[in-house]
Amino acid sequence: MITVSNVTKRFGDFVALDDVSLEIPDGSLTALLGPSGSGKSTLLRIIGGLEHADTGTVTIHGDDVTNLAPQKRGIGFVFQHYAAFKHMTVQDNVAFGLKIRKTPKERVDSRVDELLKIVGLAGFATRYPQQLSGGQRQRMALARALAVEPKVLLLDEPFGALDAKVRAELREWLRRLHDEVHVTTLLVTHDQEEAMSIADNIAVMDNAHIEQVGGPRELYDRPANQFVMGFLGPVA
Ligand code: ADP
Ligand code: MG
Repeated sequence: MITVSNVTKRFGDFVALDDVSLEIPDGSLTALLGPSGSGKSTLLRIIGGLEHADTGTVTIHGDDVTNLAPQKRGIGFVFQHYAAFKHMTVQDNVAFGLKIRKTPKERVDSRVDELLKIVGLAGFATRYPQQLSGGQRQRMALARALAVEPKVLLLDEPFGALDAKVRAELREWLRRLHDEVHVTTLLVTHDQEEAMSIADNIAVMDNAHIEQVGGPRELYDRPANQFVMGFLGPVA
């Protein structure tokens, strides 16, 4: 479980997170859903250690990580604009994290093969990132983030820059990947359809607050307030 307890974050006078508490169940695919500017990325970055809270604590699997550097938190990150190493093959991009951890070569090779299969890029190992489509590149990003067997996967609008059809495909990939590896996953999105279609747990955010947390059906059937009701709208 990831726990966020009483986290507040200000940028100058502006309150981006106002005493936020949240529990993310182990093995869940949790979506952090809310309109632009509601504080989703700030919360994700604080969980990941890329930003520090003014007050409050974060624990991962019982360990207090509030003051721990990002690389010591056992987290894989995927962002909207994936920074691939352009001069490295797909295989080397995915292997990168394993190699800097001095993983034995046979182990690196088998792990990379396995991951490329899972994300449907087995035939693309020796290509370079610019020879991939946008969707394939984000699948490579997923494989790279998962290579080091993180305890937690954090994704910030990972499919946001892609067109609707590719986005729908990537949702399916992420869902399937999650069913296979069961890594605790937090997906930031402003797209309610995306959250409703792939997450098993959704935290709805508005204006620096968490408004409600629950399964898709629960939120739809029993919205806690007018904001949740209005934001979720009818489910297709
Ligand atoms: P979301 O991801 O939900 O769109 P963010 O967490 O990125 O929202 O931002 C929440 C609010 O905090 C926004 O109003 C944003 O402008 C502000 N904000 C975020 N990061 C900074 C920063 N580094 N400096 C100043 N304001 C920031
Ligand atoms: Mg954001």
